[in-house]
Amino acid sequence: MIYERKDFQELFKSAVGRELRESVPLSRFSNFKIGGNADYFFSASSLKELMAAVYLSEKEYVSYRIIGGGYNVLFDDDGFRGLVIKNDVQGIKKLKDFKVEALSGTGLNDMIDFCKEGGLGGAAFLAGIPGTVGGAVYGNAGAFGRSIGDILDEAEVLELNGKRTDVIKLKKNQMGFQYRKSLLKEKPFILLKAVFKLAPESAEVIKKDIEKNIKERKKKHPPWSVACAGSYFKNPVSDTGEKIAAGYLLDRVGARSLKKGGAAVYKGHANFLINTGNATSKDIRDLAEELKQRVKKRFGITLEEEVVFIPAGG
Ligand SMILES: Cc1cc2nc3c(=O)[nH]c(=O)nc-3n(C[C@H](O)[C@H](O)[C@H](O)COP(=O)(O)OP(=O)(O)OC[C@H]3O[C@@H](n4cnc5c(N)ncnc54)[C@H](O)[C@@H]3O)c2cc1C
Repeated sequence: MIYERKDFQELFKSAVGRELRESVPLSRFSNFKIGGNADYFFSASSLKELMAAVYLSEKEYVSYRIIGGGYNVLFDDDGFRGLVIKNDVQGIKKLKDFKVEALSGTGLNDMIDFCKEGGLGGAAFLAGIPGTVGGAVYGNAGAFGRSIGDILDEAEVLELNGKRTDVIKLKKNQMGFQYRKSLLKEKPFILLKAVFKLAPESAEVIKKDIEKNIKERKKKHPPWSVACAGSYFKNPVSDTGEKIAAGYLLDRVGARSLKKGGAAVYKGHANFLINTGNATSKDIRDLAEELKQRVKKRFGITLEEEVVFIPAGG
């Protein structure tokens, strides 16, 4: 760490206007319930605070990482040497032409409810996916063959260039959306706001769609009490563009009976790795590695992680 804790704490207070928390267990902020302590932790509740915290970290060469709901991340057992910024910047409003603008820390399911109440259809396929709008756009989250990028109209992002930061607007076709991928994964961009283009629909029809989708999800997803981060691996795509279910490949290599320490494969779906109570980050990654090797050996396919591992060194 470049700074003594007291120095950075003071700089932070004068730049952001609020205090940092120190030595915070990251296990509380990941649905895997795994992770050592972050040197610094801050929960930003306005865009001004979020941007000031990022700007200060850039300026002072303090490593930092933005998280949303923590539903797709795996923290390190050694925590994080720097600042973890939890994005709690929430708010949604209706725009004209059936558009909705959401701040990036808004819960995805809050946005779906807002759309339902406002008679705006087209987002129900996302119902039940936990996390924030920021996390969903980052990983182009989706279900039932559709992804959030399909309905995004425009994104407002913070672009980081060393000591400079710029706020820029990007249209959907500039966002590099592909299956579970967006430009936010490639570039040092932080999503601030997103505008989604929807279509008029009755609240009753949207409600039925949401209920149907959630019922469908319950058939394969673990209950909320299970500590996991959703599908661990992406579905590999063949040369002809066809997706192969990672769960199918994993089943063929006997995944469901595998365990490493406190990490196990969920009995109900081979692509969910779970923390059975006392798993370390290493247990999860060792188990994932074993699964990757088995699939590679049997099918010649290299599985790619969908879950984002955040190493202690940033
Ligand atoms: C039970 C369960 C079911 C799930 N089902 C699905 C599913 O059906 N489909 C699906 O796609 N996913 C699914 N997921 C995974 C997860 O819900 C999504 O990936 C979700 O979008 C993560 O959002 P989050 O806010 O929790 O992101 P986090 O986990 O907090 O962060 C994920 C990544 O996004 C980055 N990030 C977060 N906010 C921003 C921002 N504002 N700007 C830039 N980068 C940012 C973080 O740095 C991190 O790299 C599931 C997870 C669970 C636990």
